[in-house]
Amino acid sequence: MPIQPQASHYIGGRYIENETGEPIDSRFPATGEVIATVRAADAAIVDQAVAAARKGYEEWSAMSGADRGRVLCAAARILRDRNEELAMLETMDTGRPLQETRVADAASAADCLEFFGGMADKIRGEQISGEEGFIYTRREPFGICAGIGAWNYPIQNAGWKAAPALACGNAMIFKPSETTPLSTLKLAEILTEAGAPDGVFNVIQGRGKTGQLLAEHPGVEKVSFTGSVPTGLKVNASAASQLKHTTMELGGKSPLIVYDDADIESAVIGALLGNFYSTGQVCTNCTRVYVHETVMDQFLAQLSEMTRRIRIGDPRDPETQMGPLVSDTQLAAVMSYIEAGKAEGAHLFLGGGRPALPGLEDGSFIEPTIFTGVRDEMRIAREEIFGPVMCVMSFAGDEEVIERANNTAFGLAAGVFTKDLRRAHRTADRLQAGICWINNFNVYTVQPPFGGFKKSGIGRENGFAAIEYYSQVKTVFVHLEPLAPAY
Ligand code: NAP
Repeated sequence: MPIQPQASHYIGGRYIENETGEPIDSRFPATGEVIATVRAADAAIVDQAVAAARKGYEEWSAMSGADRGRVLCAAARILRDRNEELAMLETMDTGRPLQETRVADAASAADCLEFFGGMADKIRGEQISGEEGFIYTRREPFGICAGIGAWNYPIQNAGWKAAPALACGNAMIFKPSETTPLSTLKLAEILTEAGAPDGVFNVIQGRGKTGQLLAEHPGVEKVSFTGSVPTGLKVNASAASQLKHTTMELGGKSPLIVYDDADIESAVIGALLGNFYSTGQVCTNCTRVYVHETVMDQFLAQLSEMTRRIRIGDPRDPETQMGPLVSDTQLAAVMSYIEAGKAEGAHLFLGGGRPALPGLEDGSFIEPTIFTGVRDEMRIAREEIFGPVMCVMSFAGDEEVIERANNTAFGLAAGVFTKDLRRAHRTADRLQAGICWINNFNVYTVQPPFGGFKKSGIGRENGFAAIEYYSQVKTVFVHLEPLAPAY
């Protein structure tokens, strides 16, 4: 499969180029090699995408929910058939190992398209009885939704936004991150192949400026954004200035609590999954691991042993468990946090350097890194690092740890390991987070809602809840009797 796309943008059911757009290189993060170049969309391309999406919307929203659902399910089947090729493309663009991209990317987008494909003909309103008639409500699409995605899971991001949006009858224009422009174009091709009318799902490339043009375009009715809190605040402010609806899926600094009665081996596995999967580039990661002081030695001994076993290497090798970070820029950012941790007096327990990997010297690789002796006020314990850097902290009491876990502006996820189910539910009840895991971490399916409390977001993706964020309610009053004279 050629990695260089036919053209940069996919608008109105076909590839479109704008020769004057700023070139953006996509690099294979394991070697730094340029694998494709796309051009940023300017205002004219954004206008063209909005015009195409409007036409697509008119046709799509007039179709029955069942017909829309069939298209989404057909797209899911094509994604699954092409999973191997799409996994390799995602590995080349993000640097994440094939072990992951085979199960968490196109496959997850397919799950989501299937879930919302099945729901497209089941979107219901209410009926309220009245004295001389009745009232009913309908869920109607907004029109054109903009999707703006992050670089960690590009096709998953696009699938999670497109599936509920399209199920509700909207059209979408999606802008992937400039760092990972490739796989979302494939999703657009596949939706066309599955029978989506031209213009229903469009992809435009570009940096933040293009995202801003899209979010601020008067023809766009809803903005669904995945990215960092600082960018989310800006995008939300510009959408709010035009009273647009928004979904904001933002960053986190999630806590994991390991009580003294936990199954320590499972807790260590949870902490590893919640810190080193995708080289730590996961929004829900439990980068603050609170371990009860009486089990700390046991926890650290197992943590160290299992972390040393992680196979770092070429992400194209099916045996590789951890690939590079997505870019040199992200590598520099993560390394600067490791330096900050050392400077603030945390103990570098493991890692902290660059692994020696013959033939991959130019890749943005980093060792899985663990700090102990971390205090809550240190930058590494407060700010989202978005790399494989785990902070382990000890605690003595349940009240103390819940208060410390909640002492953050973020509220995306949280986890707790304990064999006492009452203690587990009591803790989940008190944790300020949109997602709580009991005795596991970072496992997702598309059936439950996904999203954050506090600065980690607004709205929900996935689950029945997503329908509320991709549709608006119309109330219809029906009067069945002749009206009595009013005056
Ligand atoms: P980011 O820098 O905030 O960028 C996100 C997207 O916004 C990119 O497509 C970016 O384009 C675009 N953008 C930048 N400035 C913009 C502006 N002024 N107006 C409109 N769009 C703009 O985030 P990232 O570094 O790609 O991703 C990492 C972050 O995403 C982390 O904080 C992570 O926690 C978060 N995340 C959250 C979730 C979730 O579901 N909660 C999931 C995944 C990731 P460029 O890339 O071209 O700058």
